[in-house]
Amino acid sequence: MEQKQFKAESKRLLDMMIHSIYTHKEIFLRELISNASDAIDKLYFKSLTDDSVGMSKSDFKIRIHIDKDARTLTISDNGIGMTKEELENNLGIIANSGSLKFKSENNLTEDSQIIGQFGVGFYSAFMVAGKVTVKSRAFGADTAYVWESEGTDGYTIDTCDKETVGTEITLEILPDAKDEAGNEESYEDYLNQYKIQSLVKRYSDYIRFPIVMDMTKSRRKADAAEDDHSSAAYEDYTEDVTLNSMIPIWRKNKSELSDKDYNNFYKNKFNDYSEPIAHAHVHNEGTPMYDALLYIPSRAPFDFYSKEYKKGLQLYANGVLIMDCCEELLPDYFCFVKGLVDSEDVSLNISREMLQHDAQLRSIAKSIERTVKNELTRMMKNDRTKYEEFYKAFGLQLKYGVYSDYGMHKDVLQDLLMFTSSNEGNPLVSLAEYVDRMPEGQEYIYYAAGETLARAEALPQTEAVKAKGYEVLYFTDNVDEFAIRMLMQYKDKKFKSVADSDLSLESDDEKKNLEEKAENSKDMLESMKKALEGKVTNVKLSGRLGSHPVCLSSEGEITMEMAKTLNAMPGADQKIQAQIVLEVNPEHEIYGKLMALAGQDEDKLAKYAQLLHYQAMLTQGMPIEDPAEFAGLICGLM
Ligand code: ADP
Repeated sequence: MEQKQFKAESKRLLDMMIHSIYTHKEIFLRELISNASDAIDKLYFKSLTDDSVGMSKSDFKIRIHIDKDARTLTISDNGIGMTKEELENNLGIIANSGSLKFKSENNLTEDSQIIGQFGVGFYSAFMVAGKVTVKSRAFGADTAYVWESEGTDGYTIDTCDKETVGTEITLEILPDAKDEAGNEESYEDYLNQYKIQSLVKRYSDYIRFPIVMDMTKSRRKADAAEDDHSSAAYEDYTEDVTLNSMIPIWRKNKSELSDKDYNNFYKNKFNDYSEPIAHAHVHNEGTPMYDALLYIPSRAPFDFYSKEYKKGLQLYANGVLIMDCCEELLPDYFCFVKGLVDSEDVSLNISREMLQHDAQLRSIAKSIERTVKNELTRMMKNDRTKYEEFYKAFGLQLKYGVYSDYGMHKDVLQDLLMFTSSNEGNPLVSLAEYVDRMPEGQEYIYYAAGETLARAEALPQTEAVKAKGYEVLYFTDNVDEFAIRMLMQYKDKKFKSVADSDLSLESDDEKKNLEEKAENSKDMLESMKKALEGKVTNVKLSGRLGSHPVCLSSEGEITMEMAKTLNAMPGADQKIQAQIVLEVNPEHEIYGKLMALAGQDEDKLAKYAQLLHYQAMLTQGMPIEDPAEFAGLICGLM
């Protein structure tokens, strides 16, 4: 028989498992039971349409057997089983995880943090077992196979005898030992029937097929003398005991369940090692009738903002799992929600193609969207800290939601948005909060866009708006301005970028003063504009620059930040130009210099204009296209 090696990455994961990444080694049991249950689900589902299966619901079982003398624990099921190829592919490599790839790409060393996010499932058996034997016979196959491994050294596969379809996994439980830190590791527990019973109750109670264990019990012998209380009067016997209640948690009453029950179920089912931030349990009695269990995770999975991430809820038709990831049940902007839906009104053999057109399903999806929105709204109102934690993980998704589909979902989402405020301590604020505390006379919702908060805060124009006593929202995500464009306004208040050339913050007197100055500076401004042809569309005076000599602003629909984002997108070969205005501060020393040059030394004025433009680009955090020219200009003047 040939000894085969695990694929390199599986070997490393196995190493980690064995050296115990989980503090709770006991979870191996729920992992194996949940695999067994999945396998039964598959065969049960088949049996509904295929008579050749020859089984009815009550025939399906998961069995647990302890052999104390041999120190083995066996978990068997009469599910779909595995072919030789499936044994190789499913147990010989970690097929779908990608965890290690992700880890090496990102140079992560915190193994446990990452691993916790994946269904390493089967491998967890090696946390408690020195040897694992899997015998399996696939449905429809004549031959059964045995897969065997003692851990990192590899595995063997051979044919074997197995009468019935299904899988039988035997663990040779490790001897008790001290771990690396010197702690006593007790594996003996996993050979104790009461311990196993309580683990099944705790982690796998909801499994919808019976989990049966042959338990050893003690009873009085029938012929024992009445006054005999010695051990001789008792005898052992074995009895099959069903360990789980089989009632899916989502069918139970809310009053029967604690937060802990909900959270345990979540962690177990959706392979997350951290507690969810919120859950909602829905029993909908109307039409369509359905039960749903929805969770909001506390952090984004590592692949959340990538194409790999699959959104969707598990879909059950009257208790039978028919789909693991039903996309149609969740809108994209709530794609972070995990959970399941169970409905009597969904047809068992609904196909992928029919899903989108299924009226029942659409109406369930609508009502789930409402539930999630309400849950988030409630959290925002009643538990702000929690909401902010949520928002840090998934806020970006909500903003994309506002922007997508031409703003179709803005009404659902606008009140869930938050932005960083210029107020003391830079808190996150909602639009409602911003608008509610706008001082009298403030016409717009002001925002400053920048790559970082520090950049947005340091813009000369931000200073000017703040000096007016107005709050500014800092937009640091690329999508922010685009999302706001879709909203257009909030409660009748329009949004305005502080970098808008038409900010009109000046009082009437200031305006008049500025107009006069502009009239006097007409020729100078015209010369500068000519010198900057192709770079700016206008040069004008500005009364809002404080201590800064110049700044850039934009006219029209596209701001500089937006142009930067659009031009950085893949496939953006045609450069999008914002209409940029160079604003000059008439109160700054440099203004006098410029005026003196106008009509006298036009050549120098042109160079000054170039330099000031570069300088403004730099303060604004815009990339400089020709650094050599910039350097040349400085040296020329020096
Ligand atoms: P996961 O369950 O997250 O996919 P596992 O490592 O636990 O990862 O299992 C890998 C695969 O092996 C499963 O997806 C399934 O196809 C197969 N498998 C595991 N246990 C069984 C079983 N008892 N019966 C049939 N197939 C199984």
